[in-house]
Amino acid sequence: MTETVERFIRQLVAPEHLLQEEPMAKHTTFRVGGAADILIRIQSEDQLIKLVAYLGQLHQPYLVIGNGSNLLVSDRGYHGVVLQIGDGMNTVTVDGERMCVQAGALLSSVASQAAQHALSGLEFAAGIPGSMGGAIVMNAGAYEGEMSQIVESVTVLNEQGERMVLDRDTMEFGYRTSIIRNRPFIVVETVLRLHKGDEQEIRARMEDFNAKRRAKQPLEYASAGSTFKRPEGYYAGKLIMDAGLRGYRIGGAQVSEKHCGFIINVGNASAQDIYELIAEVQEKVKQRFHVELEPEVIRIGDFL
Ligand SMILES: Cc1cc2nc3c(=O)[nH]c(=O)nc-3n(C[C@H](O)[C@H](O)[C@H](O)COP(=O)(O)OP(=O)(O)OC[C@H]3O[C@@H](n4cnc5c(N)ncnc54)[C@H](O)[C@@H]3O)c2cc1C
Repeated sequence: MTETVERFIRQLVAPEHLLQEEPMAKHTTFRVGGAADILIRIQSEDQLIKLVAYLGQLHQPYLVIGNGSNLLVSDRGYHGVVLQIGDGMNTVTVDGERMCVQAGALLSSVASQAAQHALSGLEFAAGIPGSMGGAIVMNAGAYEGEMSQIVESVTVLNEQGERMVLDRDTMEFGYRTSIIRNRPFIVVETVLRLHKGDEQEIRARMEDFNAKRRAKQPLEYASAGSTFKRPEGYYAGKLIMDAGLRGYRIGGAQVSEKHCGFIINVGNASAQDIYELIAEVQEKVKQRFHVELEPEVIRIGDFL
């Protein structure tokens, strides 16, 4: 990174929100990953627009992250600028049955605010540990619900830092994907359309889903949730278990014994351990059942 770029960034970002050589292990739920050259905790949409326009103009690589709950960052880190959209951009406003949510708001908090206003439709997301931006990108879902069902529109920035409003039909939502997986857009705000319900019933549904998660998922370990997408006609976890891989380990990465669809960090995994375990699981499942498992987890950087 040139001195000019660094100087520009320093003019725009307060020192406490500008982290240099920052270990990505601190910002991902897998708790692995080497250092980012620079990590900026974004404080406002205006700041983000200026940064994106400038970095774009210079073809300076950058990576946008939310809560890091679906990321596997290489042990070699990320050479460029990480723009973290979190609690500096987490405003939520409610207008009738609509909620306008900034990208950095956590789903658990948005779901709880929806319940407070007796708004139903977001219960499925209460236990997903992502930000609204990450959930839109991934079309996050659980228990028959997914973001595409409740999104009215999404405001994004393009590469020039210009705002564009995309309605649901232009979002190209699919199973754990959206247009933003293929285009360099940054989610800044989302309008959700929910419906009136009963606060107690909404809270009960959220609690029920969260209890199911606690019973079935290895939440006591670092992970990125389900490692693989569900292959059509199968369940990834069952295929992995039937391939004899329950508890299988490479270094500190393990196929969870509680839920074989999760690869967990049992304490001291490297990103490389997790990467290799993903590849090994894919290979064994393919050999045994001729099914291709596609990772849901997004891999960033170079692996060996
Ligand atoms: C214990 C556990 C349980 C989970 N359960 C579920 C589940 O039930 N259902 C489910 O779908 N997922 C689940 N996940 C995975 C994860 O929480 C979701 O995919 C979540 O939506 C990711 O959000 P995030 O903010 O953490 O995104 P990140 O992991 O930070 O980023 C994910 C992707 O989105 C991009 N991105 C993030 N924010 C923005 C933005 N504002 N603009 C543009 N791009 C952006 C990143 O570049 C990256 O490509 C689980 C994860 C864990 C750890």
